[in-house]
Amino acid sequence: MHRSGFINIIGHPNVGKSTLMNALVGERMSIITNKPQTTRHRIIGILSGEDFQMVLSDTPGIVEKPAYKMHNAMNSFVQSTFEDADLMVLVTDVLESYQPEDNLLVQLRKQISIPMFVVLNKIDLVDEAKLEELKTFWIEQLPQATLILISALKKTNTDLLLSTLKENLPEGPEYYPKDQLTDRPERFFVSEIIREKIMLLYHQEIPYATQVIVEDFKEDKTVGGKPIARISATIFVERDTQKSILIGKSGVSIKKLGMDARLDMEVFLEKKVFLELFVKVKDNWRNDDYLLKQFGYK
Ligand code: GDP
Ligand code: MG
Repeated sequence: MHRSGFINIIGHPNVGKSTLMNALVGERMSIITNKPQTTRHRIIGILSGEDFQMVLSDTPGIVEKPAYKMHNAMNSFVQSTFEDADLMVLVTDVLESYQPEDNLLVQLRKQISIPMFVVLNKIDLVDEAKLEELKTFWIEQLPQATLILISALKKTNTDLLLSTLKENLPEGPEYYPKDQLTDRPERFFVSEIIREKIMLLYHQEIPYATQVIVEDFKEDKTVGGKPIARISATIFVERDTQKSILIGKSGVSIKKLGMDARLDMEVFLEKKVFLELFVKVKDNWRNDDYLLKQFGYK
């Protein structure tokens, strides 16, 4: 018998959803940094075995009070996860606390037809007594869910989680070819790599004020006949001051960004990369319907 299905992972920013995705899928496909709200898009990882296929999505963090149109668009991704899931996974960690009347818990209590899992992450950070307390809380809050305690970072119980999810998948076909890891094109990963480097290299509001568009991605050959990818990308910011920070004094910052991104791309694409970066100011892109659409939020 072949089992397959769509597994939707939800939860607040920073609880370890991307880390868990990576532990399960074993390929770097979501951004992991210690800043909240790094995952804005719905990312799908595919995990296949001889007799099963899991299509995993890591939803953007749930934003309780939408401050911008972008946040509204993010929340509508979350809504859509309730609609198309075979299994639902709520990821929480030992550090955050939920109120019983929390909107998300209220929504989840209503979902009685979809098998649900509460994954309590970062158990490496607390002692037994605290774990017992948290277990009691979650069993009370979502009695229909299966509770699994893990450390995504240390890979504690991630195999148990995987086998539990597998057992609960419905009988179903291969949705994607078995050797395929994601349904996103390479272009998407290239822009995610640039975004990740921006997160790592810049501080304060810069990462949140930027958006990356890969304008061009061409496979080419060098003079010596070796494969090379020619990539050009534009980084949009909201203000001139942000543009100068991004570029840095005599361009040192953007050079570092370009170099770090290029090295990761070469590993990811397994070929040489020629990368060109441009910085453009687009006033207030977060509230611009047209731009949000271009950036893939709609
Ligand atoms: P997301 O926003 O839910 O996708 O969270 P991330 O996967 O980006 O993780 C947020 C932070 O928590 C990162 O610094 C991770 O290294 C850290 N983290 C994730 N899982 C664990 C874990 O099991 N134990 C510990 N100690 N830290 C973790
Ligand atoms: Mg994430």
